[in-house]
Amino acid sequence: MGYWMELFGYAGKILHLNLSENRLQKMPLERSLTKEFLGGSGFATKFFIDLMDPHVEPLSPKNVIAIMTGPLTGTMAPMNGRHIIVSKSPLTHAWGQSDSGGHWGAELKFAGFDGIIVEGAAEEPTYLWVSDGNAELLSAKEIWGLDTFETEHFLKQKHGRKTKVLCIGQAGENLVKFSAVMNDKGRAAGRRGLGAVMGSKKLKAIAVSGSNAINVHDDKMLLEISKEIVSQLKKNPRVNTISEFGTWANIPFLLKIKDLPIKNWLQDDLGDELNSLNKQVMRETLFVGSRACYGCPVGCEKTVLVSEGPYSMKESGRGPEYEAIASMGSLCLNFNLKAIAKANDLANRYGVDAITAGCMIAFTMEIFERGIISEKELGFKAEWGDPEVVINLIEMIARRRGFGNILAEGPKGAAKIIGRNSEAYAPNVKGESVPMHDPRTYLGKALMYAVCPYGPDHSRGSVAELYTGSEELGIEKVDEPTTRDVARAFSSTENFVEVLECMMLCTFQYASYAGGISPAYVPKLYNSVTGDKISLDDMLKIGSKLVQLKRDFNERAGLKAEDDNLPPRFREVPRYVNGKAVTVDYKPYVEEYYKIRGWKG
Ligand code: SF4
Repeated sequence: MGYWMELFGYAGKILHLNLSENRLQKMPLERSLTKEFLGGSGFATKFFIDLMDPHVEPLSPKNVIAIMTGPLTGTMAPMNGRHIIVSKSPLTHAWGQSDSGGHWGAELKFAGFDGIIVEGAAEEPTYLWVSDGNAELLSAKEIWGLDTFETEHFLKQKHGRKTKVLCIGQAGENLVKFSAVMNDKGRAAGRRGLGAVMGSKKLKAIAVSGSNAINVHDDKMLLEISKEIVSQLKKNPRVNTISEFGTWANIPFLLKIKDLPIKNWLQDDLGDELNSLNKQVMRETLFVGSRACYGCPVGCEKTVLVSEGPYSMKESGRGPEYEAIASMGSLCLNFNLKAIAKANDLANRYGVDAITAGCMIAFTMEIFERGIISEKELGFKAEWGDPEVVINLIEMIARRRGFGNILAEGPKGAAKIIGRNSEAYAPNVKGESVPMHDPRTYLGKALMYAVCPYGPDHSRGSVAELYTGSEELGIEKVDEPTTRDVARAFSSTENFVEVLECMMLCTFQYASYAGGISPAYVPKLYNSVTGDKISLDDMLKIGSKLVQLKRDFNERAGLKAEDDNLPPRFREVPRYVNGKAVTVDYKPYVEEYYKIRGWKG
């Protein structure tokens, strides 16, 4: 039996490239690494920490990128089609991490690699072509300057229709600090500005194609477990709604619980505007189809097309998720659905994070209203709700044109350039914009946003388990959660999210607030694929270790406990819920969380 055959579930090789030296190296995947770090987030963490000096400037050639898949990627395990990217973020100058769905990760494994490590920087635009165990660096001069859809078209034409493409658009090339790494026409590792890191290395794309099957230890057991999971998903009404309408189906509910952000987090409620965000209206106005990540029976992705009028799209594309509808819609008081779809399409094509882009536009509208910037400085009036402003600013940011060149620096960087206390209107933690769930009203989000090592992230964990209890995660059901209950529940689910990200399973469907698949299934899936016998508890210990390693990296990079905070917008500006003013004090949650993690404040 060959060495690689013992590693069931893994492709057995890591591709290590140094762009400065034009050198490619295929490294065998050590069995000890799979035991200690499992895959995905674990592998990326280990490789990145081993190779990276935490003090390195994020956009210098010395920054390292680790792109990894998981042991279940490319198997029949449900919802396994994600990959993770880790680097030092140019937005937060700290741990940078983002992941994406689609089919690229599975194809990388079929091509013979579990992951790719990138060091150095090329002198000329370059792309990596990986095919059935072979890899070569090729000139990207012809595609430098193209958007992500055009890049994908070009590389598929050149290397074959089966090719899957991960790439940056013009935003990454222009080093926009919140540019995304895109794949599969609209899928995004959107956050932390990792597209700019690729751009700084002049690495335009990684195209992959392969025909190897993944070696599974016990196919029969994997099939049985997978069938059980799918049958549970199909019985879950939340999953069926998401499957039919996408993640935007919940907007009326999220407004009801005062979670949906409105007018840069200043407004509490909506009137008739809510009608335009109704799921049926959205479906009738925009939908043309559905797509799913590799191995996913849910298919939460809706494709949309605006075929005519001022917001017409060149072709159908991935529709906006809830986060994009909120950031480029309600956050800016923009309720023109076609304009939101167009703005999202532009963000996908230019390769810019739709969440932070929307936040920067809302910030612009607020500082314009407050007289901090003028029409003369902007070149136009940035009135709330004007869809033209939303569209224009996305283009200006991606191309670093005019005022867009300032906004491209992200919330902290832009506010520093503008001055006049403008950071108060660009809510951020560690330099990353706050995602589209309100920490004043959504229990647990304040803590989650404050302590996440890569800046505020809406899927880092949850505390929904407090209302149901989770024996597997050691969370007891409580009627009125205390600060300590919240901190305990979050730290447990945070460890579990790390495990899911080692497996590269969809955190959305394996989380209790959506698909609600029991955590006990995760080791069952892993053991059936790899032949290992790990328990959930041991997996969670690895999850906890990864939280610690990311924290340690940030400390060595110079971050302090004070960087675990929440902006004044949520501490000082109330949201009214049933007539009661609600703000949030994140500090007691952070103190309890530090005690659980054994950290000093
Ligand atoms: S639920 Fe959505 S994000 Fe998750 S795997 Fe399926 S299609 Fe991808």
